[in-house]
Amino acid sequence: LACWSSLYILVPAEAMAKSPEVKLAVFGRAGVGKSALVVRFLTRRFIWEYDPTLESTYRHQANIDDEVVTMEILDTAGQEDIQQKEGHMRWGDGFILVYDITDRGSFEEVAPIRTLLEEVKKPKNVPLVLVANKSDLEHIRQVSTEEGERLASEMACAFYECSACADASGGVAEAFHELCREVRRR
Ligand code: GDP
Ligand code: MG
Repeated sequence: LACWSSLYILVPAEAMAKSPEVKLAVFGRAGVGKSALVVRFLTRRFIWEYDPTLESTYRHQANIDDEVVTMEILDTAGQEDIQQKEGHMRWGDGFILVYDITDRGSFEEVAPIRTLLEEVKKPKNVPLVLVANKSDLEHIRQVSTEEGERLASEMACAFYECSACADASGGVAEAFHELCREVRRR
């Protein structure tokens, strides 16, 4: 019995030690659903109201392509000044750029964030994914799927249109996992 219990403790610790770590930061205008996406990914639940001024980091382990990966996820508030933004960009290995399909302004803010990222990370190639959130709000859509796809291809990154509140197909987790793969490939 003693032997088994010590094994039980040793195995996960061993796995933890070898597990690669990736630091992911979520960027996008306030209100696009960054916190809702992170909470959806971590808990598979949707929380309607989340303090918009809050910045949080989370640790999460997932099995991606038969490898245990430890993620540190920074959910930015989206109201930071440029110094804070650059600090978050230096911290991160990979980035999720989020816009809201019902808010054209949030879409237009993506390219400038990407430009700043390139500057801060120069000469490194920056792993990122583009997420178009709130796809459940089709009736008030302002940004077409094609526009999102075009922007993603300009940025040479993967594109996911999804909904933090109605994520039946698991697109949210797919976006996070793909970003981890992208970071690990570099
Ligand atoms: P953040 O400022 O980017 O972190 O945005 P929040 O996660 O706080 O979300 C802002 C608002 O949008 C909240 O009222 C959320 O309930 C709502 N929201 C977030 N994601 C979705 C979504 O996929 N669909 C809908 N309909 N509302 C969403
Ligand atoms: Mg938030």
